[in-house]
Amino acid sequence: MTTADAGLVSRGLVRRFGGITAVDGVDLAVPPGRITALIGPNGAGKSTLFDCLAGAARPDAGQVLLAGRDITRLPDHARARLGLARTFQQIAAFPGLTVEQNVRVGAEQRTGGTARGLLGLPAPGRAAARAATDRALRLLQLDQVRDWPADRLPTGALRLLELARALAATPRVLLLDEPAAGLDPAQTTRLGTVLRALAAEGLALLLVEHDVELVARLADTVYVMAAGRVIASGPVRRVLADPHVARAWGAA
Ligand code: ADP
Ligand code: MG
Repeated sequence: MTTADAGLVSRGLVRRFGGITAVDGVDLAVPPGRITALIGPNGAGKSTLFDCLAGAARPDAGQVLLAGRDITRLPDHARARLGLARTFQQIAAFPGLTVEQNVRVGAEQRTGGTARGLLGLPAPGRAAARAATDRALRLLQLDQVRDWPADRLPTGALRLLELARALAATPRVLLLDEPAAGLDPAQTTRLGTVLRALAAEGLALLLVEHDVELVARLADTVYVMAAGRVIASGPVRRVLADPHVARAWGAA
């Protein structure tokens, strides 16, 4: 297995809606230790591709591989247990739960701690779930508000909570849908620092992002989509300087 195979890979992915081919044969690699970005004009197929990778949508053709294993037909919760985590563009904290409890839900997705907790059994996974929760709260600087009802958080903090919940599951691959939307400049800086640190630890990150400046600052590799296809990919500086790419943006 090569380094690229250790993360998330798609091969010839196709997804149609009626007469529209939203994703038209996409090969993509999200390797460990790197931030890979996916950009492209509105309607390019980014969200549809993201959904196929995350397990929220089933492709019509092609494969999704996680650490070399074919997960194309696995539902999202099975993918989560194998170490694939995602955030949502629409933020949804569990209402009635505190910030900490929200993050804890993420931690227990991976360890199966909820069922054991309900049975009152001493669970080897529960200490790990608590540690993962504490670490995620600390990383996103949410420990000050850990006892707040999550639905009282302002938008930016809610988005960081969403990321903390995904991280608490200690994923090996993390898919992020517009994580900087609604963040203030300080929170965006925090986000960037956290994502770089996670990549340095060996996490494989995919960032679907509107903000090209953020992509230029953060990403190692970028894929550009237009009309369902990858029209350019490679090191972020080279791809963003490509006039062909600039034309695709201009056409949007
Ligand atoms: P992006 O996220 O890059 O803006 P999308 O993946 O949302 O692009 O959309 C790609 C194409 O697929 C668009 O033409 C869009 O209208 C179409 N599409 C997306 N989702 C659906 C759906 N649920 N039903 C029908 N068409 C859809
Ligand atoms: Mg979209």
